[in-house]
Amino acid sequence: MNKLLILVVEDDAPVRNLITTTLKLHDYRFLTAANGETALIEASSHNPDIILLDLGLPDMDGINVVETVRSFSENLPIIVVSARDDESEKIKCLDAGINDYVQKPFSTAELMARIRATLRHSSAAEQQSGTFINGKLKIDYVAHSVYLDGEEVHLTNYEYKIL
Ligand code: CA
Repeated sequence: MNKLLILVVEDDAPVRNLITTTLKLHDYRFLTAANGETALIEASSHNPDIILLDLGLPDMDGINVVETVRSFSENLPIIVVSARDDESEKIKCLDAGINDYVQKPFSTAELMARIRATLRHSSAAEQQSGTFINGKLKIDYVAHSVYLDGEEVHLTNYEYKIL
């Protein structure tokens, strides 16, 4: 059973329905948002496993959604699903921190494959290079650093392993 939660941000109802129907078929749970503001509320309150994001939203540009999500989560995977095929637009999105870009019109099989690839990548990255935060304790797995209240705590390798 695959009960990962996907946030679908799309103002075009037929496209949104196509995506959610496909997700349901593949046993994913989903949330939907038809504009940027709802997308940000859903993303911050439900902590989805992945966001599928349209760029042309009625209240803001999708890139603003990417930037705001990145301001509170470095790791939440974002796949842009857009009809824009402008190279500079894609580069802007990638620089803002998206994980993948799917061109509309898309095949649902390709979209599902992109989701699987992104999830594989993000869970591996989380294990290998994630950051664990619990209250005042922060552990940076990449740098092997431990912070308490913002101050770095120096540990021996052995102490780090125990932690
Ligand atoms: Ca749109």
